[in-house]
Amino acid sequence: MGTDLMGKLPLREHIRNMKKILRVVTDMDRWYFFFTSFVHLINVVVPYIQLMLSAYILDAILEKQDFHQVFFITALVLVIILVLNFIASSIWNRMEVRRERIFSLYSCITQTKMLNMDFSQIDSPKVKELQDRMWRDNNWGAGINSLFWQFNAILYGCFNIIGALVVGAPVVGYVLHSRQYEPFLVLLLLILLTAVGMKAGVYFKKKDHFFMFTFPQEEEKEDLSDFSWEFAEGRGFHYKNGKDVRIYHSYDLLKRWTTDVYHNKKFRRRLKDGAVGLAGSEAVVSVLHTAMEGGAYLMVAMMALAGGISVGNVVRLSGCLKNLFSAIYGVIQDTAEFALTARKQVSTLEFLEISDEMYKGKLPVEKRSDNEYQIEFKHVSFRYPGNEQYALKDFSMKLKIGEKLAIVGMNGSGKTTMIKLLCRLYDPDEGEILLNGVDIRKFKMDEYSRLFSVVFQDFVLFPYMLAQNVAVDVDYDRELVRKCLTDAGFGEKLQEWEKGETTYLNKEFDDNGVEISGGEGQKIAIARSVYKDAPFILLDEPTAALDPLAEYEIYSNFDRIVGTKTAIYISHRLSSCRFCERIAVFHEGRLVQYGSHEELVADTRGKYYEMWHAQASYYQTKK
Ligand code: ADP
Repeated sequence: MGTDLMGKLPLREHIRNMKKILRVVTDMDRWYFFFTSFVHLINVVVPYIQLMLSAYILDAILEKQDFHQVFFITALVLVIILVLNFIASSIWNRMEVRRERIFSLYSCITQTKMLNMDFSQIDSPKVKELQDRMWRDNNWGAGINSLFWQFNAILYGCFNIIGALVVGAPVVGYVLHSRQYEPFLVLLLLILLTAVGMKAGVYFKKKDHFFMFTFPQEEEKEDLSDFSWEFAEGRGFHYKNGKDVRIYHSYDLLKRWTTDVYHNKKFRRRLKDGAVGLAGSEAVVSVLHTAMEGGAYLMVAMMALAGGISVGNVVRLSGCLKNLFSAIYGVIQDTAEFALTARKQVSTLEFLEISDEMYKGKLPVEKRSDNEYQIEFKHVSFRYPGNEQYALKDFSMKLKIGEKLAIVGMNGSGKTTMIKLLCRLYDPDEGEILLNGVDIRKFKMDEYSRLFSVVFQDFVLFPYMLAQNVAVDVDYDRELVRKCLTDAGFGEKLQEWEKGETTYLNKEFDDNGVEISGGEGQKIAIARSVYKDAPFILLDEPTAALDPLAEYEIYSNFDRIVGTKTAIYISHRLSSCRFCERIAVFHEGRLVQYGSHEELVADTRGKYYEMWHAQASYYQTKK
């Protein structure tokens, strides 16, 4: 569910949220608001200088003062104003660049967090739900960006109030000391009006905000009311879906979740609410402004009529009063908006505050040139967070050094889970995994993960150069990259590509980038695992997207690719595993058989025999 922005929240919660989000922003740039405050100070002071200058000129004309002196003072003040304005705009322009920088940094911190937090956390239902909320709360990307102008507006408003009070102090003094009640009553009326206006303003602003920035609640999902393009993409409006849309005539289905929204009753009501919010908010502002302007003139006129106040002071004081009330109103309204912005960022802040749970280990991993690393699973059981079912149950096995082990089993039998546990993406719930007799949890995590090269089924390639994808680094050993690519069966393509290993994968960073097929991607991923040169190489269905010829090519090169490393090879195609010395058969999270192909196929009551014969006709034609 999206954050319920219309729900009540105690004031101290609002303040806490605002403080938190400000801290995140100021941690990224301590000086941003300091410098913008300086600009606001100038922006507040300049109009008052102008106001006082007008008052001075008026009084000077009426009092027939010396022209030269008036001219000199006017010119001097104008130069000061010019210099101040120049300073303010120079600083402001720099601050705009810094604001962009903070904004970009902020956009990156959730991604950075995501890439650095425990993998097991990303996968947990709790974090997934939080990510969902974050996405909804940041809908339209308006969240953090509005914080800058809101907080700057608050700062500006506060300076404005101080300025009005300082410059307009005589009015307060006058009202307090005068025996007239009328200006006092007007002042009271203005205060009352501001209070009422604030309440109404906040109400309308909330309505407007709710429409603009919140995501429909779960029960409204069918009546979507978000029409951003990204959102439409999420609902299936993507060019890649073009084939299916045409063949299955699925446009009507997709349209129901997107464009149909415009004709939907709930959406129209939301639209109306948004319009009422916006119109109401603007109406309150105009009414208040007019009333304040009128009230200010009325008060000053009363004081002037009662005597003892110059024409210049009439100008000066009416300006101050007008400013004072609109600044107070503005600060309250901007603070209310800021509170809403901060509230929308709560999910992001919560996400950033998730702390890692896995023990990161302290023991260094011994570097061995002979690759004598032995792994043993001892009664390992594991359930994914939020899952009742065990993905792996009481699994015990020793991985012999230099062994080529195949793991076979049906989908969902726990093969990938075993690899994830081995790489410490998760820790077992029961049992332990040992490296040379020591629980792997004790080893420094980043050193331990260097022992493994893995090609996951859902491997990721980046839109960078081919070579950088293989080396997973900006710098790379060109010859080694080419060798690994050739060993992985990518040699021909490498020759074909004009820019060879410096070709970009896809066009995000280079117009001449190349779109690659699933099979080509898999070969690159295999090359990457070889380049890493780790003592263990783990391949999870590495040939699933390859044609039989390419698959054959990988097998024939397998010994060269893997060398003396310990290798685990996962596949659901049994014939793909025959070249491995040992085969482990998984079924429903358990290791049910273990042995060579000949031994396993001889056991006519075993799972392997059953699977082998079920797939026999297929394999016979492929062999
Ligand atoms: P295999 O690799 O043999 O196809 P997996 O190890 O991927 O099987 O999955 C084993 C079981 O764990 C399956 O029932 C699967 O649905 C479940 N599972 C896998 N990944 C997750 C996950 N991230 N969250 C919850 N359950 C999962």
